[in-house]
Amino acid sequence: MKKVGLTGGIGSGKSTVARMLADEGFPVVDADQIAREIMEPGSPVLAEVADVFGADLIDDTGALNRGELARRAFAFTEQTAKLNAITHPAIRAESNRRFAAAEAAGERAVIYDMPLLVDLGLDEEMDLTVVVDVDADERVRRLVDKRGLAEPDARARIAQQVDDATRLAAADVVIDNNGPEEALATQVEKLVGLLNG
Ligand code: ADP
Repeated sequence: MKKVGLTGGIGSGKSTVARMLADEGFPVVDADQIAREIMEPGSPVLAEVADVFGADLIDDTGALNRGELARRAFAFTEQTAKLNAITHPAIRAESNRRFAAAEAAGERAVIYDMPLLVDLGLDEEMDLTVVVDVDADERVRRLVDKRGLAEPDARARIAQQVDDATRLAAADVVIDNNGPEEALATQVEKLVGLLNG
């Protein structure tokens, strides 16, 4: 089974590509979704987060106040590192469990939808790394117009990620999403051909 890492800067269209590949029948392991699931009420990861960042982050129903955690964890790199040290191993373990399940189900390929694939060096564990590429200014426009982010927020989030040149250098396949979505679909079809071939 081929492990296919799918990544791209925020606003590049990575989720759009993941949806297209899911529609083609490929199993998709979504790292962001796993990141949310490991912090569901009652989870051991959530308990550890509460230990380190404050029990008041958990409300009466056992749910996490994500906004407040973000405020406490992302203000200082040292705090961010502490949070990552708790969450990243759990995300990694759950991702690997899902890859194994896809392999056991006889899948030909599994898609790993992971924004930080290159940032964390996980591209080295993939058989193929696919990078969705869009100029940063256009990504900002799409994040503002289509996802309702404030422009400074969009730029700040882009600045937190690995730079485009580094991400592109890790790519085996580059999907250029500067054009319209129809052009994206054509390139995804090509990728599907490669994965099925
Ligand atoms: P990511 O997952 O990489 O952050 P998304 O897939 O959510 O990015 O795409 C960001 C936004 O841009 C979404 O609203 C999406 O519908 C839109 N989008 C994706 N591809 C294109 C395109 N080629 N042209 C215009 N908008 C696009």
